[in-house]
Amino acid sequence: MRKNFNYDTAALARMDRAHIIHPWAPLDKLATTEPFIVAESEGAYIYDSGGHRLLDGMGGMWCVNIGYGREEMAQAIADQVRRMCYFSPFGIISTPPSIEFGARLARYTPGDLKHVFFTTGGSTAVDSALRFVQFYFNFIGKPNKKHIITRDYAYHGSTYLSASVSGKPGDRGHLDFVTDTVHHLPAPNPYRRPDGMTEEEFRDAKVAELERKIVELGPDNVACFIAEPIMASGGVIVPPKGYHRRTLDVCHKYDVLYISDEVVTGFGRLGEIFASEPVFGLTPDIITTAKGLTSGYVPLGAFIVSDRLYARLTDSPEAKGKAFTNGFTYSAHPVACAAGLKNLEIIERENLCAHVRELGPYFQQRLGELIHLPLVGDVRGSHLMACVELVTDKGTKEPLPAEWEFPRRIIAETISRGLVVRPMAHLVVLSPPLIVNRGQVDELAEIMGAAIRAVTDGLVREGLWRD
Ligand code: PLP
Repeated sequence: MRKNFNYDTAALARMDRAHIIHPWAPLDKLATTEPFIVAESEGAYIYDSGGHRLLDGMGGMWCVNIGYGREEMAQAIADQVRRMCYFSPFGIISTPPSIEFGARLARYTPGDLKHVFFTTGGSTAVDSALRFVQFYFNFIGKPNKKHIITRDYAYHGSTYLSASVSGKPGDRGHLDFVTDTVHHLPAPNPYRRPDGMTEEEFRDAKVAELERKIVELGPDNVACFIAEPIMASGGVIVPPKGYHRRTLDVCHKYDVLYISDEVVTGFGRLGEIFASEPVFGLTPDIITTAKGLTSGYVPLGAFIVSDRLYARLTDSPEAKGKAFTNGFTYSAHPVACAAGLKNLEIIERENLCAHVRELGPYFQQRLGELIHLPLVGDVRGSHLMACVELVTDKGTKEPLPAEWEFPRRIIAETISRGLVVRPMAHLVVLSPPLIVNRGQVDELAEIMGAAIRAVTDGLVREGLWRD
């Protein structure tokens, strides 16, 4: 489907090349690759500047949960801009939307996680949560508790500290990271577990690995463990059943705080507003959230901390003259919080969580059918997040080599068929807006199948691969 737009794509591309620095863009391709210019959007679809309609298999970037072009969202944002666009959040200053949104969020959080610290996005939510943990242990007289345990293939953000606790190997070149207090454990990826090991044995091994690391560092030196319930950008790694509950128990045995990074998994992607407790049986000490918090309409993030931890700070005689000196000009931005309130209202009114719980198995089933294609080694996921992993050999599970440029090939094949997806190395991650229907799930799965077949044919034609 095509619309008639008046964008001058060639001129936009020229200006883009001349002036815009893109995150994660391959430097060697900038001169030769035309930017993909996303100009308009509607429901579960985006339009490029030439007017071509594409089903959004990425949900923006795991975030446009309520779908595009919501008039009532535009209205809520505009109303708040007219009423009061911004005022400083520093000190004991608030705005009605931030107060109301914080209180609304607290209805959905597990346990006693009822205090919300708003930030500007996911990276700043994670960064601020980690700084809060540091502040907390310094404040309560345990200043040695500095070490942070995380996992390979985690993605927690792009500030110095949130990038340091991330662990995707491809993101580690030519940048520096905090290394003295950050420790990575291998990812709990059942697809890559040792041959002959059951998922239960694998889970037990991962839990034991965490405990060994805490003991090795000395429990008095370990501050926290940070984990995504499902590792999103690392390739939708769904840990073995019971992993989170058990790792939480280990953390609490040693007075180590547990941060559940729900930047992707929250706001309906797994059929719940927060997935930690209802999906994984986990009541962490801190939850971080962003993305679906406003469905990407405006940037916002938050960490939410337990009353138990918060009260140790505020109810202490030591509190006099002290402050958690961390925050941003745009913390708790009133326009973003107004968008968050409207987003939550839409999710509730349209029962989007129930819709995801109902449609999720069908989405997984349709994508699961791709496993029969020759290059597909694994299809995994939960609810409306999934990953297709491409390998040269299903037995050895050898990933497609980088030189084959799978991302370039699959993007070309899906876009020409009317679907946009997010390939990363030999993986394709999928997270459509939560409003997709069965027909759109079929469309997505069928295009994915045709595109992978076309990529395979191309590799065969070029003599790079044969069955
Ligand atoms: N945490 C997780 C789990 C994420 O997937 C991301 C982004 O993809 C972040 C944190 C960082 O969020 P942002 O890009 O909004 O800073």
